[in-house]
Amino acid sequence: KKKIAIMTSGGDSPGMNGVVRACVRMALHMGCDAYCIYEGYEGLVQGGNLIRKMEWYDVRGWLSEGGTLIGTARCMAFYEREGRLKAAKNMILNGIDALIICGGDGSLTGADKFRAEWPSLLEELVANGTFTAQEVHPFSHLNIVGLVGSIDNDLSGTDATIGCYSALARICHAVDLIEATAYSHSRAFVVEVMGRHCGWLALMAGVATGADFIFIPEKPSEDNWREEMCSIVEHHRKIGKRKTIVIIAEGALDREGNKITPTMVKDLLADKDGLGLDTRITTLGHVQRGGTAVAYDRMLGTLQGVEAVKAVLEATPDTKTCVITINENKIMRKPLMEAVLDTKKVAKAIERQDFEEAMALRDTE
Ligand code: ATP
Repeated sequence: KKKIAIMTSGGDSPGMNGVVRACVRMALHMGCDAYCIYEGYEGLVQGGNLIRKMEWYDVRGWLSEGGTLIGTARCMAFYEREGRLKAAKNMILNGIDALIICGGDGSLTGADKFRAEWPSLLEELVANGTFTAQEVHPFSHLNIVGLVGSIDNDLSGTDATIGCYSALARICHAVDLIEATAYSHSRAFVVEVMGRHCGWLALMAGVATGADFIFIPEKPSEDNWREEMCSIVEHHRKIGKRKTIVIIAEGALDREGNKITPTMVKDLLADKDGLGLDTRITTLGHVQRGGTAVAYDRMLGTLQGVEAVKAVLEATPDTKTCVITINENKIMRKPLMEAVLDTKKVAKAIERQDFEEAMALRDTE
């Protein structure tokens, strides 16, 4: 009987529980044993009761729960070979040779490294007397499939990551609430949303709430962003708008690569010699990540979880490690490291202030 383990890693995102539920149930449906690794890579490194066999009813009701019920953690030990050696040992002790990992690009990079190193990890476990060659023989091929759980929608190669639409819905709801006060008092609000290298949340929240102005990392405003923003806000005020909403991604930059902060924007809008608006800052923070998954993320997590199990069962030793994506409404499998490397290219382009390159890469995603 094949034993398939599922884990969540990196930052939590709404929809991860749907993934776990789908993987567990699809694995059981296909006649396999299903396991959950609790606390991300930490569970794999520590083993013991952090690796648990799951039954059909263990994941009952998980679809509508927020966060990840099997936990997630940043695991320093997994960056080191010694940690990965312990992880390999725990996999073999539990008879597991297939892993489905739902996380961000860091988690998927770790997964790829683990698979690449697997043969040498087995050799070492035999050489140091942990197992015999016969004991490790059935585990000669490690099978890994990735799923992207992230609220930022920051992975290249997929139209949506699991959790991004829930976060977007939460932001829109928060802006709706803020707007009531903004309108009543004729105020301006600067709303900071998540997104260090990826402005998708800020951009789409801007579109979905009809914000006056947005700031994103990939396309910093021109040198004259101050004048540009103020003249747009002024125009909106002149035509009778009583509320001003400016959305700013936490990684927003100017053309020189300097951070644009909510305070800078607030001071500008409030400047007595300029617009003189009564301006407040709202940092949404972890509210964006919390709560139940919206219908789209439940659906995406479920469909992709099912596909991940299929990918595990169809893989051969020569199959490249894949990540499950959604492209033009079709659930697809793509080479995992290509998606991760393309993602890192955008972050690097932003870091070296090559914004044209960052935008070009986003366009081809
Ligand atoms: P998020 O997008 O929410 O930050 P992430 O998956 O990118 O999610 P990371 O903190 O980068 O989050 O990675 C999660 C865990 O994956 C790390 O704590 C570590 O255990 C493992 N990991 C990440 N990168 C590597 C790597 N290069 N080698 C080995 N393990 C890694």
